Amino acid sequence: MPITAEAPSASRNTMSFVDREHKLLIDGQWVAAASGKTFEVKDPATGRTIARVAEGDKADVDRAVKAARRAFESGPWPALTASQRGRMIWKLADLLEQHLDEFAEIESLDNGKPRTIAAAADVPLAIDLFRYMAGWATKIEGNTIPISVGYMPGAEFHAYTLREPVGVVAQIIPWNFPLLMAAWKLGPALATGCTIVLKVAEETPLSAIRLGHLFKEAGFPDGVVNIITGFGETAGAALSGHPDVDKVAFTGSTEVGRLIVKAAGSSNLKKVTLELGGKSPNIILPDADIPAAIGGAANAIFFNHGQCCCAGSRLFVHRSQFDQVVNGVAEHARKIKVGHGLHPETGMGPLVSQIQQDRVCRFLDSGKREGAKALAGGQRREGDGYFVEPTVLIDTRPDMEVIREEIFGPVVAAVRYDEPEELIAAANDSVYGLAAAIWTRDLSKAHKLARRLRAGSVWVNCYNIFDAALPFGGYKQSGWGREMGHEAINLYTQTKAVTVQL
Ligand code: ADP
Repeated sequence: MPITAEAPSASRNTMSFVDREHKLLIDGQWVAAASGKTFEVKDPATGRTIARVAEGDKADVDRAVKAARRAFESGPWPALTASQRGRMIWKLADLLEQHLDEFAEIESLDNGKPRTIAAAADVPLAIDLFRYMAGWATKIEGNTIPISVGYMPGAEFHAYTLREPVGVVAQIIPWNFPLLMAAWKLGPALATGCTIVLKVAEETPLSAIRLGHLFKEAGFPDGVVNIITGFGETAGAALSGHPDVDKVAFTGSTEVGRLIVKAAGSSNLKKVTLELGGKSPNIILPDADIPAAIGGAANAIFFNHGQCCCAGSRLFVHRSQFDQVVNGVAEHARKIKVGHGLHPETGMGPLVSQIQQDRVCRFLDSGKREGAKALAGGQRREGDGYFVEPTVLIDTRPDMEVIREEIFGPVVAAVRYDEPEELIAAANDSVYGLAAAIWTRDLSKAHKLARRLRAGSVWVNCYNIFDAALPFGGYKQSGWGREMGHEAINLYTQTKAVTVQL
């Protein structure tokens, strides 16, 4: 595991933002938490504190929900035309693009990911998402419906549907793609005319705060987007249980997803969408382009340090090619340059926090205890920062924790298979169903297998392909509903049937 040298520092521009005292965005104003409390934000590559942010809690959530309700019911936002709304979202995308380098640096400092990756993936994808959703603002349509009403012979009707915004939405996001997750959530909510209280992850609040500064510049009225920094058990719980929130959209762990559903159910039955965990099978068929599949398997698990809910964490390889493939992936793992995300040569940064590092290492220990062997990596890097070596596990069994549970780190567990039927059953043998991939040269096999895999995304001869137009979300315990594409628009609107007797 080559280690890159000491990181260069972030630009003066970025640091002048990071070094500020960060507050909550409520009703267009940056305000301290009602309690006056703040908490630390760390650079996960060094463990050093880089900023302090306001610790929002129930009282702040209340204020933010009130502001969002006011902005939804009255004021300029509901009076805007769809075209005006679309142009504001487009303007936001333009502003984000103008600040691309700054956002990439913030993301790298706060989350640990390589700046180069944030600049090539996270920030451009967020920009594209906003542009895609800006286009939707003017295309949200109902239908006219010919109705018959047999019990009123001779009566004539004009019936139609309206698609209306759901209302005040709470959005609770994780730390793995802080800016991009904010964009996935905010984009469709803004396009449909909802108002928002966004609760960012406590580990990575900075890019959403920076984005908050751009909303005013883009022309959004006060209260349309409110941003709360704070902890899950306090601010997050207050939001998901708030009686005046119409919908909660959550991305994070399946455990917390259950809490969100409970809170929604025991408050006002607000609508819920969830994007949760995964344990995605990455399947290499014997006829695949093996070098491409090896590179693809490494990317599937090591991209974003494996901190992706759709990471290809179970690698299925035919017995005849198993050694070749796992040795190839292990070779990739050993070559990854692990270091500070701001270093231009870094291919993999630290995990996001000490908690996450410990969690991943617990899985590595349990894998070893249960008899798995690390062909590459297998442990944390001692010293500063929350680094874990890119790891390839072999000698796995279906009942092992490393096969059953989401590790959310750079750890792939390889599985040998013999027969296609056994393969499909094993690939689907998970409580999760977020993503899957197939590597093959046989198109017919690929399409057939794609139908049988119980997953919300299936990639063929590729992995981690995302687009604002493609729906993303989970089967089984990986979630409810979809992000992106027109499906996201549907989930931020509700249908009203209007019937007029003529
Ligand atoms: P992870 O375990 O990967 O940190 P979580 O599911 O705990 O993921 O966190 C994702 C988001 O959910 C974060 O914004 C976090 O603050 C929030 N969260 C955590 N616990 C709760 C909760 N009880 N209610 C609402 N939100 C929560």
